[in-house]
Amino acid sequence: MQCFGSRELVDNVIRQDLCIGCGACNDLCPYFRSRKGTTVMLFPCTIAKGKCFAHCPKAEVDLDELSTTFFHQRYGTDPLGHYDAIMMSRAGANAGTASFQAGGTVSALMRFALERHYIDGAILTDRKGIVPTPRFVTEPVDVLACASSKYAAAPTVAAVNRAIRKGDTNIGIVATPCQALAISKMRSNPLNDHSFIDPVGLVIGLFCTWALDMQAFESFLSRRIDISTIKKIDIPPPPADIMEVFTDKGKTEFPLTEIRQLVPETCSYCIDMTAEFSDISVGVVEGQTDVNTLIIRTDRGRELVEEAVSAEYLVLSDMPGEKVEHLRWAAGNKKKRGLAKAKEKAIINKPAGTGISYLRINDETLNTICP
Ligand SMILES: Cc1cc2nc3c(=O)[nH]c(=O)nc-3n(C[C@H](O)[C@H](O)[C@H](O)COP(=O)(O)OP(=O)(O)OC[C@H]3O[C@@H](n4cnc5c(N)ncnc54)[C@H](O)[C@@H]3O)c2cc1C
Repeated sequence: MQCFGSRELVDNVIRQDLCIGCGACNDLCPYFRSRKGTTVMLFPCTIAKGKCFAHCPKAEVDLDELSTTFFHQRYGTDPLGHYDAIMMSRAGANAGTASFQAGGTVSALMRFALERHYIDGAILTDRKGIVPTPRFVTEPVDVLACASSKYAAAPTVAAVNRAIRKGDTNIGIVATPCQALAISKMRSNPLNDHSFIDPVGLVIGLFCTWALDMQAFESFLSRRIDISTIKKIDIPPPPADIMEVFTDKGKTEFPLTEIRQLVPETCSYCIDMTAEFSDISVGVVEGQTDVNTLIIRTDRGRELVEEAVSAEYLVLSDMPGEKVEHLRWAAGNKKKRGLAKAKEKAIINKPAGTGISYLRINDETLNTICP
């Protein structure tokens, strides 16, 4: 993996509108900070190779290298990434209740992992008002307070960096695809630090088509409703095509055509809909509000799911073949769109010495998905 420093990160990611504000470059040093989704560099830094660049999910992402590290195989052509099984799931009787986004699978699994001490702490995304805010929890019951989706991009990886600096290990993380990619770059030890020990015990990835620009979203909502009274924001599964905002006064609906205007440019380059670099990925199921799609990708993920089912924290059912194919089609479309944009901007597979690429992907996969 080619590594550079903060100057290259600023020139090739932040100034090119590729930064999603995941927080991967925050809390590593005093220089990078994130505020309401915007990453800023406070002081110049002259280090030639830094973790800020090395962990960024929008700079020199070598998919073959990451796939070989985590799945022992090249980055393949299946739009769903490497996986063992795809099922449907929902929280079981012992998982507790909360304002789950859909079936509560994510909260049930994280709570179970903490209860059984498979992880020592979990990094989740809570909210302050409508601003998504990372939170480190160690008490299983606190997982429930972080349930539900916050639809803006969040600096969740900054909380991982803070936990690592404190010396925490065996950390569980719930992450969107870009956040999961940053975490997998960090776990691949790109700067070959001899004292590196993988601090991550579990990654649960969330499906994501896009995340909103926090500042644009706040400004959009505050012109239409009193944002201090918001209780919950929901995007029901397709074919609804609306965002629902619940306040003291009831529910207001916004067409997704209006909300999509608030998606940052960088999401249109993203090729990962299902958080491929995770132990388990979770999304919604089209037309159903109380159940999840569950993709098991690693042995660790499979063992956790099996035990959570035995302990009645999780309930599984088969996913009909046509739903799996629809998911594959949707994930393939996102990949195709992202690869086409990256090709158009010439930020993919640049020959060594000719500049910095956003992505590196093998020719077979590139040509199969985006000929
Ligand atoms: C920005 C965003 C876009 C999404 N887009 C899609 C999509 O296109 N298709 C689809 O099928 N599913 C999408 N999802 C995932 C889906 O909404 C649910 O998160 C998922 O199905 C899990 O449901 P659950 O009931 O198990 O979650 P819950 O048990 O309610 O848990 C939700 C978890 O999500 C975490 N979380 C919430 N917001 C964020 C955030 N901004 N960043 C990181 N973590 C967060 C919380 O920490 C919590 O642990 C999206 C989620 C987000 C956050």
